[in-house]
Amino acid sequence: MYFDPRPKTSRGDLFDREAEVEAVKALRAPITLVLGLRRSGKSSVILVAASELSHPVVYIDARKFEAEPYLTFKHVSEALGEALAQPMRRFPKLGDYLKHIKGISVAGFEVKISWRERGSLAEILEALNRWADDTGKKAVVVIDEAQELVKLRGYDMLKLLAYSYDNLRNVHFIMSGSKMGLLKKFLRLEDAESPLYGRYMEAVELRPFTPEEARLFLEEGCRQHGVDPPDAERVYRAVGGLPGWLTYFGYTYVSVRNEEESIRRTISYAIELIRQEFAHFLEGRWAAERRYQVIMETAAECAAWSELKRAVEAAEGRHINDSEITRLVRNLVDYGFLEKRGDMYCPPDPLISTAFRRGRR
Ligand code: ADP
Ligand code: MG
Repeated sequence: MYFDPRPKTSRGDLFDREAEVEAVKALRAPITLVLGLRRSGKSSVILVAASELSHPVVYIDARKFEAEPYLTFKHVSEALGEALAQPMRRFPKLGDYLKHIKGISVAGFEVKISWRERGSLAEILEALNRWADDTGKKAVVVIDEAQELVKLRGYDMLKLLAYSYDNLRNVHFIMSGSKMGLLKKFLRLEDAESPLYGRYMEAVELRPFTPEEARLFLEEGCRQHGVDPPDAERVYRAVGGLPGWLTYFGYTYVSVRNEEESIRRTISYAIELIRQEFAHFLEGRWAAERRYQVIMETAAECAAWSELKRAVEAAEGRHINDSEITRLVRNLVDYGFLEKRGDMYCPPDPLISTAFRRGRR
């Protein structure tokens, strides 16, 4: 069913995205990136691809770290340990490869990684590689919303990724995130100092649905429930093309069967979520909270950099350095609250725009 609000896990529930699922399954490079805004369907595409692979998939959902101001090695080792349970169940022999590693204990399908053994992550990847070598398979490690790991302190995740990239030919990473957040902020692919600098990665980009795709999605989704479809153009105008909002609309519409009411509920649900995410973003950035708020309100209908600067200065009644404004705007772009369109900064999604429009608060 297209309107099931959870991330999709099987092909039949996924509308379109055929080429994207195939590109993820192909494992063409040691690292495949799945890029898109929140609710563009990254997790769904990855999970559907994973369900069709005959390889073990270690799935780490880094989104659960969203509300943490910073992360330690312990967070990562625990998450990896938990994520190993699933492939262990499917390929119990994996346990034999893992249990000899220092700092790892294997009981049944449960894997515990001691947070004191920092070398163990590389050894786990080496063990996965050896297992894959022996069985003629690949080992796939998914890090969903990988840019959350930028908050990791005291452990160099990029070095580990680079080591795996260069040496472990049977280990493949799939990482998802927003384009700016993942490529620039976390992987630092444009930074010559980054351990991953110059490495080729396969990128799969998930764009919002076009008006035509949105119409087909709504029509076919409604057909699955035996409900007459809504006026798709109107729905698209109100909520935009992100699959997540359209799914929520459809989910509501097939139960209340009222277009206007369903649009209203989708918008208020979206605003609530976007505000929550913005509050997470402000976590640890309290000193600049007011400035971020002013910038988002000013850019709600698109604004030039100079307008953003003027608005922050007006709000505080004093001069503010260009570099400070640039830093704030860049953070908002990295986290997907704004995007650059020509000379303007705009919310990448109409509902983000709605959430910050003045007078809404
Ligand atoms: P992301 O991981 O990018 O935030 P999700 O995979 O969680 O996005 O998808 C957001 C919502 O949209 C979920 O309810 C999911 O079921 C739905 N969805 C996304 N893409 C599709 C699609 N191609 N077909 C059907 N539903 C989708
Ligand atoms: Mg997701």
